[in-house]
Order: sequence, then C-alpha cells, then structure tokens
Amino acid sequence: MAPSGSRSDDCWRVLYWIPVLFISLIVAWSYYAYVVQLCIESIENMGEKIVYLLVYHVLFIMFVWSYWQTIFTKPMNPLKEFHLSHPDKELLEREDRRESQQEILRRIAKDLPIYTRTMSGAVRYCDRCLLLKPDRCHHCSACDMCILKMDHHCPWVNNCVGFANYKFFMLFLAYSLLYCLYVTATDLQYFIKFWTNGLPDTQAKFHIMFLFFAASTFSVSLAFLFAYHCWLVCKNRSTLEAFRAPAFQHGPDKNGFSLGTNNNFRQVFGEEKKYWLLPVFSSLGDGCSFPTCLVNRDPEQPSLPPGHNPSIKSAGESHQFPPKPLRESQSRLLNNGQSEGNEDRDKRGTSNPALTIEKET
Ligand SMILES: [Zn+2]
Ligand SMILES: [Zn+2]
Repeated sequence: MAPSGSRSDDCWRVLYWIPVLFISLIVAWSYYAYVVQLCIESIENMGEKIVYLLVYHVLFIMFVWSYWQTIFTKPMNPLKEFHLSHPDKELLEREDRRESQQEILRRIAKDLPIYTRTMSGAVRYCDRCLLLKPDRCHHCSACDMCILKMDHHCPWVNNCVGFANYKFFMLFLAYSLLYCLYVTATDLQYFIKFWTNGLPDTQAKFHIMFLFFAASTFSVSLAFLFAYHCWLVCKNRSTLEAFRAPAFQHGPDKNGFSLGTNNNFRQVFGEEKKYWLLPVFSSLGDGCSFPTCLVNRDPEQPSLPPGHNPSIKSAGESHQFPPKPLRESQSRLLNNGQSEGNEDRDKRGTSNPALTIEKET
C-alpha cells in the first residue's frame, strides 16, 4: 500500500507543472499568431513571407529544444564516493555530540576533493541524502535531493538549474530572447499598421497587436536575466554563490572558482566551439570537483606560481587534503586559468590570504 501522504505529494507535484504549461500555451499561441495570422494571412509579399517563416522556424526550434533540455535533464547525483558508507552511517548515528560527528565527517572528507566549508567552518553534510556535499552542491527542498553546482530551482522549468543543465538554461535564455526580439522586430511594421488602420478588419489584427505587446515585454525581462547570467558565467559563480560567497578553509571567497573569463566560459560551454550553440551537454568536469586557483590538487602540475603554495594556504588547518588528479579538461582549465585568473585577481585585489602573503614577502 502506498504510504499516506504520497497521493497528496503527487497532487502537489502535478501543480508544479502549471508554470511550464503556462509558458507552453503562450509559445503555442505565439506560433499560431506569427505563422498563421501574421505570415500566412497578413503578409502579401511572397519573398518576405518565406524569409520571415524560415528564420522564425530556426529560432523556434532552437528555443523549444533548449527549453525542453532544461526541463527534462534530470540533475546528476553526486558520485558514490561522496555518499556515506554503511559503517560510517552507523558510526555517525551513534554519536550525539556535534563535535564528534564533525570529527567523523572530517576524516571522510580528507579523502575527497572537497575544499568548501559551511560559514562556521564545518564540513558540509546533507542529512537527508546522507552524503558529504561536493563543492558548489546544495540540497534543493523542492527536488528533495542534492544538486551539483546548484544555481537555483526554477519554477518555469519545474527543475533545478545546476551542473547538468546550466548550459541548456543559458541557451534557453539566449534563444528565447532572440525569438522575442525577432518577433518584435518583424511584427513592428504590422503593429504600426494596426494603429493607422492599414490592416484589413479581420481577427489577424488583434493577434498582431497582442503578439507585439507580449514579445516586447518578454524581451525586456529576458534581456535582464540573460545579461545577469552572462555576468555569472564570466565570473564562474552560481546565483546562490552570487548571494553568498562560497566559504573555503581560509574564509569566504566569491572568486574562489574563477579561472579567468575565457576558462570560466569554457567550463560551462566546453572546449569544442561546434557545440557551444547547441543544447547538447558539453560542460567540463564531473560536477563534483572544480578546479580552483586557491589550491594545487594535482602533484603532476608543476606550474603553480609560488603564491599558490598550499602549505601557506592551509596554515592553521588541522589537516591537508591529499592531492587528487583532476580530469584532463579540468587540469587544462586550471593551468590556462592561472595566468589569466591571477592577472584578474591582481587587478582587483584579492581575498585569498595565500596571495596576500605572497605580495607582502
Ligand atoms: Zn541532500
Ligand atoms: Zn530543485
């Protein structure tokens, strides 16, 4: 028998789809208004009609494809090594004192590529998913799971935006903005005709008018949202991190994951340019560990500048993290990013004490 409450949970989950349905209905209506009422019914010039329809359909397909991907890409689960083993779970349950629990968690975290802490300096642990949270991972109460590189939970896609679908979300914003701008621009002259009585008195004129209002209004709000997320990508911050800087062992550092604009962009969109504009997954890394200029995690990478000596960085720490080889793409990002990222840091000053020490000596 299903546990009590599961049916009401399911009902609530159905309600979560209402914003997606709302957007889908608007998009479906805009398709009808543009294709049928504007292009087929109102535009008389055949050449203009074909060009309008062709460009429109390219944008429409890219927009719907990226929206679909943002909605239906399931968040990835943190790797198995971040989940507590059965003996560790039992050990943790037996301990009542918070300090002892933290001691156990610190011991487990020692073998993992985890560099961030809670604001109070504790190991980040999710007691619902029973795992040590990878860097940039947060528990989403709406999805009831830990989301890798969580950006935010978006009701308009009824999904969490995070490592698995952030590129799709960016493309969704970009293509929906282009779609709205294109509809606004091509509808403009017919919208003017509406007010100058240049359109025949059919129902098409009302579709043309509302299409212009809807597309121009959405253009403005999408432009702000897209610009904000472009800024976040360039800075390598999630929305959550923009509001609260991730805390490292030396303290909070809002630029902790930044590797310079170029590498930050590549971390989300990948190395291969041919995939940048397509809503197919091409982000770098596994979502559980992220290269950072603050620590050297790969002993095989000798190119760290002296200011990045981890022994300086972890002065005062009770333990050091073991070096863990990064994936090739991550190592490349880290290497490439160091010169660019450091220049960036030097220009604006830095909150990294390791770099501050370096400057003073
Ligand atoms: Zn969780
Ligand atoms: Zn969520």
